[in-house]
Amino acid sequence: MNAPTQDLVPLEAQRREVLERVHPLDPLEVSLLEAHGCVLATDVHAPDDVPAFANSAMDGYAVIADGLDQGAEAVVIGEVAAGTAPDLEIRPGEAVGIMTGAPLPVGADAIVPIEEVEELGDRVILRARPEPGAHIRPAGESVRAGDLLLEAGRVLGAADVGMLATSGHDRVRAYPRPRVTVISTGDELVEPGRPLAPGQIRDSNSYTLTALAREAGAVSNRQMFVRDDAGALADAFEGALVHSDMLVTSGGVSAGRYDLVKRVLADLGDVEFRKVAMKPGMPQAFGFVQGVPCFGLPGNPVSSVVSFEVFVRPAIRRMRGRMDINRRRVTAVLDEPVQSPLGKVEFVRVALRGEADGWHAAPTGGQGSGILRSVVDADGLAEVPADVESLGPGARVTVHSLLERH
Ligand code: AMP
Ligand code: MG
Repeated sequence: MNAPTQDLVPLEAQRREVLERVHPLDPLEVSLLEAHGCVLATDVHAPDDVPAFANSAMDGYAVIADGLDQGAEAVVIGEVAAGTAPDLEIRPGEAVGIMTGAPLPVGADAIVPIEEVEELGDRVILRARPEPGAHIRPAGESVRAGDLLLEAGRVLGAADVGMLATSGHDRVRAYPRPRVTVISTGDELVEPGRPLAPGQIRDSNSYTLTALAREAGAVSNRQMFVRDDAGALADAFEGALVHSDMLVTSGGVSAGRYDLVKRVLADLGDVEFRKVAMKPGMPQAFGFVQGVPCFGLPGNPVSSVVSFEVFVRPAIRRMRGRMDINRRRVTAVLDEPVQSPLGKVEFVRVALRGEADGWHAAPTGGQGSGILRSVVDADGLAEVPADVESLGPGARVTVHSLLERH
C-alpha cells in the first residue's frame, strides 16, 4: 500500500500548482446585502458628509448657550422633529423643542436634554448651564465627503454594509462567492436516514465537504452521490459543471478496481491524478474541465477533510478575491509523542490549550483516515514535516487552526 516516497509529488509543489492555476472570479456589481461577506473589489469613497447637517443627539431644546445660566428661563418659539427642516432662527434667551436627529435651528449652538429642563408651557427653566456644542452632532462627524470609506480587498462586515448604506451607496463591486458543487462517489454509499444493507456506509463526505465549502465562503451544494459507473459519473460531473465555478468529488481516486473518478475526470478535461506526499490524503486529482477547477479528493472521510483544508479551502478563498487564503497558524508544544512516515507531511488532529508558556497541542484520539471523531474534537491540524519521523513530548509544531468557521 505504501508507495515509494520518491514517486510522490511534494505537498508544497501540488499546492503551488493549484493556487497558481486558480484565479479570482470576475467582480460583479451587487447590492449591499449580496455583498455582505464578500471581498470588495474597488476602493469606495464618500460622496458627501455624514451626517449631512448638524443635528441634535438628544430629545430636548436647542438654545444659544451664551448668557443662559443654571435656573435661567427661555421662551419656546417652536419645535423641530427629525425628518423636517423648518426655517427657524433662534435668538438669545429663546429655545426650540428639538428631537434626536432633527437639524439645528439657525443660530443654535447647544442642546439642553429634556431631562435637564422644567417645561412650563411656552417656557422652559434650565436645571443646568448649557455648554456650547453640547449634544450636537456636527455635519461630517462620522464621514467627510471624499473620505476613503472602505478599501479594496476588505471582507464586508455588517457595519461596512451599514456604512455603505448611510453614505448613499446602494451597490458595490465585489467578488462573487464561487458556486461549489460537491459529489460523493461509491457503490457502498447510502443516504443518511435510510437503513444500511450489509456492506453499506452512509455518505458523510458530501455533507462535510459542502459544509466546509460554505465555511470557506462558497455557495455550495451537494448533489446526490453517484455509483462507481463511468457513464453515470461522466453524466453527473458534466451536468454539475454547467452551474458550478468549482467541482469537488470524493472517492474513486485510489488504486482500487472501481476507482473510476480519476479516469472519468481525465477523459472529460485536463485533470491529472497525483500521489501527493501527505498523510492522510495521498491520492489527489486536480485540473480543469471546461475551465472549471475540479478536485477529486480521496474517499476516506478524514483524507477528504485534510485534502480540502490543504488544497480546496485556499482555492475557494482565492476565487473569492481574498488575499489571506491560509488558516491562522500557531506554534504549539506537543503534549504527546507523534510518529510520522518519512517523506510525507503528516497532519495530526489536535486539541489546543492555552498555557502560561503558550499553546499546547494534544492529539484528539485515533488518527486513522476514517475516524471523523478526532476531527470533531480537534481545534487544529498539527503539521509534521516530511523529513521528520517522530516528535517527542515538548517538541514544537505548527498547528493550522480549524476554529475559524467563516
Ligand atoms: P475510495 O477513495 O473511493 O477508495 O474510498 C475510500 C473509503 O472511504 C471507502 O472505503 C469508504 O469507507 C470511505 N468513503 C468513500 N466515500 C465516502 C463518503 N462519501 N462518505 C463516507 N465515507 C466514504
Ligand atoms: Mg470508492
